[in-house]
Amino acid sequence: MATSSPQQILHDVFGYASFRGAQQAIVEHVISGGDALVLMPTGGGKSLCYQIPALLRDGVGIVVSPLIALMQDQVDALKQLGVSAAFLNSSLDADAAREVYRQIHRGELKLLYVAPERLMTEGFLNLLEGLQQESRIALFAIDEAHCVSQWGHDFRPEYRALTVLHERFPEVPRIALTATADAPTRREIVERLALEQAQQFVSSFDRPNIRYRVTQKNNARQQLQSFLETEHPDDAGIVYCLSRKKVEETAAWLKEQGWDALPYHAGLDAVTRNRNQQRFLREEGVIMVATVAFGMGIDKPNVRFVAHLDLPKSMEGYYQETGRAGRDGLPANAWMAYGLGDVVSMRQMLLSGDAPEERKRVELQKLDALLGFCESTECRHQTILRYFGEEHPGDCGQCDNCLEPVDTWDATQAAQMALSCVYRTGQRFGVAHLIDVLLGKVTPKVEQFNHQQLSTFGIGNSLAQAQWSSVYRQLVAAGLLNVDMEAYGGLRLTEAARPVLRGEQEVWLRRDADPVKRKAQRTERSAKSREPFAGANDDPLWLALKAKRTELAREQGVPPYVIFHDSTLLEILNHRPQTLDEMGKISGVGQAKLAKYGDEFLQVVEDVANGV
Ligand code: ADP
Ligand code: ZN
Repeated sequence: MATSSPQQILHDVFGYASFRGAQQAIVEHVISGGDALVLMPTGGGKSLCYQIPALLRDGVGIVVSPLIALMQDQVDALKQLGVSAAFLNSSLDADAAREVYRQIHRGELKLLYVAPERLMTEGFLNLLEGLQQESRIALFAIDEAHCVSQWGHDFRPEYRALTVLHERFPEVPRIALTATADAPTRREIVERLALEQAQQFVSSFDRPNIRYRVTQKNNARQQLQSFLETEHPDDAGIVYCLSRKKVEETAAWLKEQGWDALPYHAGLDAVTRNRNQQRFLREEGVIMVATVAFGMGIDKPNVRFVAHLDLPKSMEGYYQETGRAGRDGLPANAWMAYGLGDVVSMRQMLLSGDAPEERKRVELQKLDALLGFCESTECRHQTILRYFGEEHPGDCGQCDNCLEPVDTWDATQAAQMALSCVYRTGQRFGVAHLIDVLLGKVTPKVEQFNHQQLSTFGIGNSLAQAQWSSVYRQLVAAGLLNVDMEAYGGLRLTEAARPVLRGEQEVWLRRDADPVKRKAQRTERSAKSREPFAGANDDPLWLALKAKRTELAREQGVPPYVIFHDSTLLEILNHRPQTLDEMGKISGVGQAKLAKYGDEFLQVVEDVANGV
């Protein structure tokens, strides 16, 4: 293999025609022995960046990964490509581990995945030293490098000790990779892993194939159900909820409605959790209802949607969670239903935790940035990237605000009414009651507090209930109103409300879409988002190709995408190859897979053509 070029390996082993983005530059840099820090979004194609150099350099590439559950799949995928790979972690029994050690000593492996705690044992480091004396370590890849960061929720203390690699093996190139978009984490990675000398490769963090949508919550379950029915009747996806209880309830409800939904949260026992994760990975069309405990390093490429039934905690969280959709580059949806109640419960959760005050303040600011995003009328792709310090021209054609531009309206007067109603009622009532007062409804509560006497009683008849609710939500999101946790969610004015009440500041709000009108537009829109799959689901060949893939995957106990990705099956569907030669030109069909599966898939194409 010593005479191969990266391009040739890309083609022969992986079956791809060309490198993407910075891949080629990274690969060449590492092959020539340089250290690299690779910042690339999920789905950007990070794995090739260390796999190809490992194949082209002498010795074995050591890949440090915190994701024990996924090492098996990664190794399986490499074996499918004809690459000799193995992993070492606590899930291996002693015999299997001994066999891996034998393979290492015999120099049989090109890639070895290791959990950080295993890597850091003195025994393992000694073994590496033995290898290195004969120059038999190709490189160190540090995957999910953001795990060194104390601030992220993926923090792994063992990652901190990885500087030892640099100290004990200075001649071995190191490549650290992460999909984390925020600058502070990047700086921490450089510092903690002693990567000051490494060349940094920063890709755009845009995920152009993800269509972002934020919709106003009115009946979240029904909204989710109709989103699934119209856009994802057969797809795998993730539904995020804030609490374990809601995860359980939502999963149960979806199941009742006939969806193949499973729960996942940290409160489930390890066996159930693992079983559910395996089903999600290995079967088609499973919906995982989960807390944020689910997802880090979920390598499943064909997650077609990520739905949020509750607000994420920050833009970072939102980007990371939605980023699990569409890793294969095919169209995917990020859909969120959001309402005032979410703002209230999220703030409540942040404030009631036992984090130090300063930390709470930071978290509240992060939440505010996310709320600003939710209420924004600008391009979502642009807004997300701007948050991470990247420019985007906007007008993406792939977000709700670009597809159906949202009006803003001069809500100055309405805001004054809404705020003064809060003030007149004593800053202790929730939105429902405030709206009753504005609309002049004589409810028992209004009578009890004698609120029909107030100057704000009935002054709001020019707007409907739903519009007032939109006004209040946006005033809370914008920080003009605070939710008083001690007073059961009553609203209070903040300092920021003063200039508005005094008439010194205008307020412009988004005009929420009318739910009825929205429904009519949805069918047209959803058709577009599934273009590459258009017709596929009804095509007997598509079903036959998927069935063949499932059969092969079952036989070998691997996830279907390890055999072929959806994008490869789609290409077979569209090109209907008739010879092995034509099959070999399909993206994702390298030499090993062509030899292993070429005939079988050609047979499927032929059978379907003959109506078998
Ligand atoms: P990441 O680890 O950055 O999330 P992966 O390495 O899993 O991304 O790659 C994402 C997907 O893109 C995979 O399906 C991979 O096979 C595919 N891919 C990567 N590089 C290329 C390329 N140059 N051409 C075509 N497909 C690619
Ligand atoms: Zn847009």
